[in-house]
Amino acid sequence: ADVKTSNFIRNIIDEDLRAGRHAEGIHTRFPPEPNGYLHIGHAKSICLNFGVAEDYNGLCNLRFDDTNPTKEDVEYVDSIQEDIRWLGFSWGDRRFYASDYFERLYEYAVELIKKGLAYVDDLTAEEIRAYRGTLTEPGKESSCRGRSIEENLDLFTRMRAGEFPDGARVLRAKIDMASPNLVMRDPVIYRIAHVSHHRTGDAWCIYPMYDFAHPLSDAIEGITYSLCTLEFEEHRPFYDWLLTSLGFPAGERPRQIEFARLNLSGAITSKRKLRQLVEEGHVRGWDDPRMPTISGMRRRGYPPAAIRAFCEEIGVAKSNSTVDSAMLEHCVRDELNHNAPRIMAVLRPLKLVITNYLEGETEYLLAENSPTHGGRRYVPFGRELYIDREDFMEDAPKKFFRLKPGGEVRLKHAYIIRCEEVVKDAAGEITELRCTYDPETRSGGTAANRKVKGTIQWVAAEHALTAEVRLYDSLLRTAEEGEEEPADFIAALNPHSLEVLTDAKVEPSVRLTAAGMRYQFLRVGYFVVDPDTTPDHIVFNRIVGLKDTWSK
Ligand code: ATP
Ligand code: MG
Ligand code: MG
Repeated sequence: ADVKTSNFIRNIIDEDLRAGRHAEGIHTRFPPEPNGYLHIGHAKSICLNFGVAEDYNGLCNLRFDDTNPTKEDVEYVDSIQEDIRWLGFSWGDRRFYASDYFERLYEYAVELIKKGLAYVDDLTAEEIRAYRGTLTEPGKESSCRGRSIEENLDLFTRMRAGEFPDGARVLRAKIDMASPNLVMRDPVIYRIAHVSHHRTGDAWCIYPMYDFAHPLSDAIEGITYSLCTLEFEEHRPFYDWLLTSLGFPAGERPRQIEFARLNLSGAITSKRKLRQLVEEGHVRGWDDPRMPTISGMRRRGYPPAAIRAFCEEIGVAKSNSTVDSAMLEHCVRDELNHNAPRIMAVLRPLKLVITNYLEGETEYLLAENSPTHGGRRYVPFGRELYIDREDFMEDAPKKFFRLKPGGEVRLKHAYIIRCEEVVKDAAGEITELRCTYDPETRSGGTAANRKVKGTIQWVAAEHALTAEVRLYDSLLRTAEEGEEEPADFIAALNPHSLEVLTDAKVEPSVRLTAAGMRYQFLRVGYFVVDPDTTPDHIVFNRIVGLKDTWSK
């Protein structure tokens, strides 16, 4: 159903296929590190990798890139799977873990040593950094670089056996300490870490580095296109060096292609920072509706189809840029506009009494659920109603077409009413409006077509459900004109990113609705039922307002 547009990655694939490459089909992978929850940036990568595989009748693997045990956890493995499924993609039986390859990766490292292409280095991490040199200065070779193959094999075996403490030694690829590309200056490929791994337990005390494990995992799985973000561009020569050195022939082995990271205005798309927000309690958790995590967006009520449409719309480019978050909201609104049933609710209730309406009487009015999907429901109407405080103004300007003293307005799906009297408490606060209604203005009545300028929504007091409504704003403050960006993003947090209304009134058709149901509250915005809801306490999250602020 999603319309695909061409991009430079699809062009590369088309060209390869025309040249007769990958006759067995194309093969991509999505390789998250299970060290946090997925965010909107990952959604882009998921849509790209799974989407391309789908389009070309290829395969896409889910591979957990779990080579760094200190930060990883099964909680993250579970959430990642849930999020990918929810987005609408499936890896079938193609779920892999880089840790499944630890033995093979070790063997590949041994092979490199035997070819004279890797050595054990005793320098400390600090020394390695200092020896690496800079863009303008060549690096300095470690005195261990000349070690014999036999000595390297012996030391590497003993590293694996646990003879040395963390940081005592590393295994490095032997390439070129004078390379203009810093990545190629003998990168570290194995390190010692006496840490339990969430899958392999204590079987290993040496772990492969990402740059070593990733290309080999791709090759082991038969990946044809290894799509990654731009910051890996300078790692590509090592990707190719490693696979060439281990005998994977060019043209058949996986090809790394870089694309631009997604940055979203006003949103944080770094797992490290998102974790900090969670751990320091600035948000309720990874799935806080203000978080740009997939689980946060799910709880916020963003439909998965809207996120897919957004990822398609932003496309795939070769240079980094920041996408306006209004565009994501536009996609969400577009989806909900078609698919969310429309109901009536008032966020800030003001009591309204229809003095010429029979006391104790309830009538049930038919109301359309959706212009796209039709469907109808009954909405109770009675003598006492609630309208939104914002829909009444005592000293209204001429252009105010909602309710004002002596003025008329149509109650949606019901009658035209006139405001006869404004009741106030001792403090001058308006507590009630007293109105009359015109019984002939109901749909089907003799004055049904009588026109008034404004239409407002309402809820019958006796039947209304009281709801808690959570209104969200951007997690980050928008900087004042000329204000410098704070060095610490915590200082830029918006103190008003959450507003809770506890006395909203909602029509009773939503009684017993469960978490995840999305509605348009007529004239107000889009709302979703939050999982905090119980049978006697309904909680809504505002997904997004009605007004679209995005323009192409
Ligand atoms: P972070 O920097 O937030 O920790 P990461 O890149 O380290 O993200 P991974 O779990 O390694 O997180 O990411 C899995 C895949 O998702 C990678 O292929 C990565 O390139 C991609 N990805 C991560 N962030 C973005 C982003 N903002 N835009 C596009 N793709 C992304
Ligand atoms: Mg990563
Ligand atoms: Mg990271």
